[in-house]
Amino acid sequence: MKYLYDLHTHSTASDGTMSPTDLVQRAKLAGVTVLALTDHDSTDGIAEAKIAAMRLGIDLIPGVEISVTWGPYVIHVVGLGIDIGCQLLQQGLSSLREQREERALEMGRRLDKSGIRGAYAGAKAFSNGCLISRTHFARFLVDQGYAEDMAKVFKKYIVRGKPGYVPGSWASLEEVVTWIKAAGGQCVIAHPARYPFTRTKLRSLFEEFVDLGGDAIEVVSGNYTRDNCLTMARHAMDFGLMGSVGSDFHGPEHSRIEVGRMLDLPDGVTPIWHNWNRQDLAISF
Ligand code: AMP
Ligand code: MN
Ligand code: MN
Ligand code: MN
Repeated sequence: MKYLYDLHTHSTASDGTMSPTDLVQRAKLAGVTVLALTDHDSTDGIAEAKIAAMRLGIDLIPGVEISVTWGPYVIHVVGLGIDIGCQLLQQGLSSLREQREERALEMGRRLDKSGIRGAYAGAKAFSNGCLISRTHFARFLVDQGYAEDMAKVFKKYIVRGKPGYVPGSWASLEEVVTWIKAAGGQCVIAHPARYPFTRTKLRSLFEEFVDLGGDAIEVVSGNYTRDNCLTMARHAMDFGLMGSVGSDFHGPEHSRIEVGRMLDLPDGVTPIWHNWNRQDLAISF
């Protein structure tokens, strides 16, 4: 049997637009055989995704994408194969969601000062009662005609240096590795090619991550070029880290990225799933 892995996706439990059930269904249709649901700072979609996955005959890896403050930067760490009943992990995620609420209120205040009324309430309405991300602000701003698409709205209002930007204060890299390990999961640096880092800065991140016991980096991500994949493959091999692959799918509206559609993992990289077997997957259910 040929396996197709997509180990980074989002649902309405964070800033995706599809319910966990619809996401699993779409992944199945796309030929994905092993899917990780990795919502931002929340595992609330996992239970529903598990049920859909069992019904459709696809392996579901319980995952999460955690927000990390690393020096002056924000980076993301994916946890895969986590026990969502782990208290330490859930306490950590819950504190991050409180931070998100604080940040969203502050973003609302700042946007208000720059003449955009009702952004907090608008973003909240787009979040369906789940956590609020910048994506929800962006959807509100596009809906209100402040810019024509998501990319433009981010650039104009909610990235560093723009009126609605609030960096937020997230977990440390060390804390996040501890939480994921406590939950029996594997730690993955999400989309490393996307950070605005020099090569030296990126390598210092990998070095620190290895020292803390990190497992893998996303060698393949939904919006990577072939060149990005090859560069990240080289870094993974240099640091003895495994490689993960994930689309970072957020929904069909974000048309450039589709679930299960990514470049292949380059030769020479040890896939993060190299010592997984179906029994392990069943245990993680
Ligand atoms: P947050 O974690 O609330 O700061 O929101 C970050 C999320 O915003 C990411 O996970 C992406 O889904 C989304 N995002 C960030 N930059 C962009 C962009 N330029 N265009 C569209 N979505 C973006
Ligand atoms: Mn997102
Ligand atoms: Mn991310
Ligand atoms: Mn993501």
